[in-house]
Amino acid sequence: MQKIVIAIDGYSGCGKSSTAKAVAKILNYTYIDSGAMYRAATLHFLNNHVTLSNTEDVEKNLESLRISFHINQENGKQETFLNDENVEAEIRSMKVSEYVSEVSKIKEVRTALVAQQQHLGRNKGVVMDGRDISTVVFPNAELKVFMTADLNIRAKRRQKELMEKGDMVDLDKILQNLSERDKTDSNRKESPLLKAKDAIALDTSNLDFEEQVNQIVELAKVRIGTYYNEYGSNH
Ligand code: C5P
Repeated sequence: MQKIVIAIDGYSGCGKSSTAKAVAKILNYTYIDSGAMYRAATLHFLNNHVTLSNTEDVEKNLESLRISFHINQENGKQETFLNDENVEAEIRSMKVSEYVSEVSKIKEVRTALVAQQQHLGRNKGVVMDGRDISTVVFPNAELKVFMTADLNIRAKRRQKELMEKGDMVDLDKILQNLSERDKTDSNRKESPLLKAKDAIALDTSNLDFEEQVNQIVELAKVRIGTYYNEYGSNH
């Protein structure tokens, strides 16, 4: 069956990743977490004490950066690897969250990661979430969704997520991190977070998880139908 690209963008912590993952599972698509790639690059830079203002240093470290995703055979979850090391837990830490938006501002970093993301989605059948997927990575995606949610609700959801992993973080600290990242991501020069003109806005403040997943799956089914009609097939 012909497949489409589903691009999901939006603010930090509004449930893009978990929603995108569930949508991919239902449609039997591949899920790609572009935020995890920026987080892995950030961890790599932190480990190697890269000076972000030093382009040569940044480029050298981008050359030694290898990011891949593997499914954990025990729990079926997708995990992020940095140069063959499983860094799934480490990239979600507050330390990486505090630095990631600064690293994501860098043009050379974006050029390298966007090329990898486009390669990963070249055969379609992907759900990718991030900040610039609808605008830069896949401007021709058949379905574009822009997710939003109230900041307080996002912070509480993120705190619950961290607590479930045994990481107790103050709500104020999370609120501050989310709002700073929103600001940096929306105002940066390179590929700022914006809603693409043809993206469908989805405010998840008052939706439960199942509702938000279903809404996107239904939209996808319509787009897949539209795609077939446009190309004259009735499968
Ligand atoms: O999605 P997540 O919150 O894990 O993303 C972490 C950070 O990575 C974002 O705050 C943003 O700075 C950056 N990012 C980006 N472009 C993307 C995905 C993430 O700049 N496509």
